[in-house]
Amino acid sequence: MKRYTLGVESTAHTFSVSVVSSDGEILSNTKSVYTPPEGSGIHPLEASRSHLVSAPSVLSRAIDASGVRTEDIAAVAYAKGPGLGPCLRVGAVVARTLASSLRVPLVPVNHAVGHIELGCLLTGAKDPVVLLVSGGHTMIIAFAGGRWRILGETLDLTLGQLLDQFGRHHGLASPCGRAVEEAASKSSTYVRLPYAVKGNDVSFSGLLTASKQLLDGGESFSDISYSIQETAFAMVTEVTERALAFTGKAEVMIVGGVAANKRLSLMMSTMSERHSARLTAAPLEYSGDCGAQIAWTGWLAFKSGMSVPVEDSAVTQSWRLDSVDIDWRN
Ligand code: AMP
Ligand code: MG
Repeated sequence: MKRYTLGVESTAHTFSVSVVSSDGEILSNTKSVYTPPEGSGIHPLEASRSHLVSAPSVLSRAIDASGVRTEDIAAVAYAKGPGLGPCLRVGAVVARTLASSLRVPLVPVNHAVGHIELGCLLTGAKDPVVLLVSGGHTMIIAFAGGRWRILGETLDLTLGQLLDQFGRHHGLASPCGRAVEEAASKSSTYVRLPYAVKGNDVSFSGLLTASKQLLDGGESFSDISYSIQETAFAMVTEVTERALAFTGKAEVMIVGGVAANKRLSLMMSTMSERHSARLTAAPLEYSGDCGAQIAWTGWLAFKSGMSVPVEDSAVTQSWRLDSVDIDWRN
């Protein structure tokens, strides 16, 4: 018999609810995205207020669109972290209330694990080297010894933050990744920028400072957008390649909002071909933050015995994905 899990995502700018079936069908994935004012970044309290306002309608639309009766929901999952405290708390309260009133188990999910497991469901990847690139993460990950292991990561800004902060410096509204990609596509003039790979980690802060200075000095937004993409994407491709060579895996998967970028996909696909590895990327609708990543991973965790009492369902702003036991892959 099919069973259904409802998942609530609210780690940052997105409040989203999804219902998935036990065989991996996504029956709904409704969201509301908080957009900060032009030129400024995400303000945690403002974002959480926006989530509070949109939560009731996102929840009821997700349930209605799924066609599932609430009495058929077997578990409610929520993003426990990592993320912004005020935002996480809104999602947790919604999930606790729902789990209590439906009298079903409550399942905490690590948001980063959610990106990876949903990516695997949708792309058919079985055991990939993962490049997780989003507003909150820049990590190279592979599964070993019962956990998703971090084989490289950013030492400062995430790739999403780099593109967003660069775009905001130019006066764009966050998130700016798509606008930077569009500007970059109009140029092929490379301006030299700091390339910082340290061991198998990357650092973007020097790249951001130099790019802002060049903009302030009158360089064109397109040329610097092109150059920042070429530099930052080459850095993450280099460390992913090293992880791939080291692990000998046969698949590479890109997940997170920056996975939408075509130039990044092209660089990663050239690199993957060199190693005869299959490259996959989460489809656009599901590459960024969404309820489906929480609902699907919640189902996997629930199926392997994970749930928490409502009174023990705190959120955690920092929660490394390599501290999470992945029982369903053993
Ligand atoms: P997430 O945190 O997974 O929702 O991803 C959001 C991040 O993805 C933001 O930093 C966006 O700027 C970035 N992003 C979205 N679309 C693109 C794109 N086409 N190219 C680069 N970055 C993008
Ligand atoms: Mg994310």
